[in-house]
Amino acid sequence: MRSPVNSFYGFALPEGLQRAINELKFDVPTPIQTQAIPPALGNRDVIATAQTGTGKTAAFCIPIITKLEKNPNKAALILVPTREIAMQIGGVLAQLSKYLQKITPVTIVGGVPMSPQIRQLSKQPRIIIATPGRLADHLRRGTVSLFRIDMFVLDEADRMLDMGFAAQLNEILRFLPGNRQTLFYSATMPPNIQKLAARFLKTPVEVTVGPVSKPIEEIRQSAIQTTQAKKNTVLMDELKTRAGSVLIFARTKHRTDRLAIQLTQAGHQVNRIHGGRSQGQRNSAINGFKLGKVRILVATDIAARGIDIPHIAHVINYDLPMTAEDYIHRVGRTARAGADGNALSFVTPEERGQWKEISNRFL
Ligand code: ADP
Ligand code: MG
Repeated sequence: MRSPVNSFYGFALPEGLQRAINELKFDVPTPIQTQAIPPALGNRDVIATAQTGTGKTAAFCIPIITKLEKNPNKAALILVPTREIAMQIGGVLAQLSKYLQKITPVTIVGGVPMSPQIRQLSKQPRIIIATPGRLADHLRRGTVSLFRIDMFVLDEADRMLDMGFAAQLNEILRFLPGNRQTLFYSATMPPNIQKLAARFLKTPVEVTVGPVSKPIEEIRQSAIQTTQAKKNTVLMDELKTRAGSVLIFARTKHRTDRLAIQLTQAGHQVNRIHGGRSQGQRNSAINGFKLGKVRILVATDIAARGIDIPHIAHVINYDLPMTAEDYIHRVGRTARAGADGNALSFVTPEERGQWKEISNRFL
């Protein structure tokens, strides 16, 4: 058995990387980092499952940076389900590699023009962070080559399949060198991911931390029985009694827009994000919320996964999610990195069945 590593020094990382980790005040590795970093550094394939907010991003960024630093021929591809997660990971890589040779990740996401991406890709970047749709687009046009990729990461693997990316993933798989290392990260590991893993990974080391079928304990979960007609009044009251940043989930783009407008009219500072908005609008919505310029972000499930904004104090399910699984991810936007958080769900008579399933499984 490998002895447990309870300090980042135990991984013997490049000095510049260790320095950046110290600066981020990561005193000790989180459990998923302790378990997933050594096999990843040892060139093994890894399938890692750990609850939301437990440091999965650094668990794959640290081995990637270490290997790129040690071997100038190495290159990595990180696939993620949403554009916002891609940019967030770009930020983490930049922070962690600031004292090392400059490794600038290229971010290949949809909703923005192709030509700047084509220019960046032609320079043979050593890290590509991409969403599957746009990467598959580049592959079809021949504007990206993946033959140098020897590290492949799939983050939020479960979400990829939910979002219907299976076909694109298979397409991308055909272009990836067989001789590569593959790392899968997910907060939940449903059976369809295990099937996908069987195709992508070679005798992986499986690492699971915590009861992955439950939200983390630090989240105080509660529900209010209400009606469609009363939701807004109840919400306004709740916003008055709660302090700190609030992420509110609504079911559709239209309901997200409408609620944001109603909250604005009631005097709140609100941003909104959903798949119908432009990339510029999505970025400014996330950034304003992240910087604390606006207290409230109203969102569809596009913001349910991966987004790491440590100061989110409350998640409110204005509408319940379509699937029970999404509940874990939504409420996991709060209580990040050991902080506390609150999750409140509105339950109308029509939503009682859904709530029963959620509360049976997750409360
Ligand atoms: P996950 O992908 O597991 O949901 P993230 O990778 O987004 O979680 O990390 C959640 C938060 O934890 C981030 O704000 C990150 O900076 C912080 N974090 C990661 N690793 C550590 C660590 N070892 N010590 C302290 N904080 C950490
Ligand atoms: Mg994550």
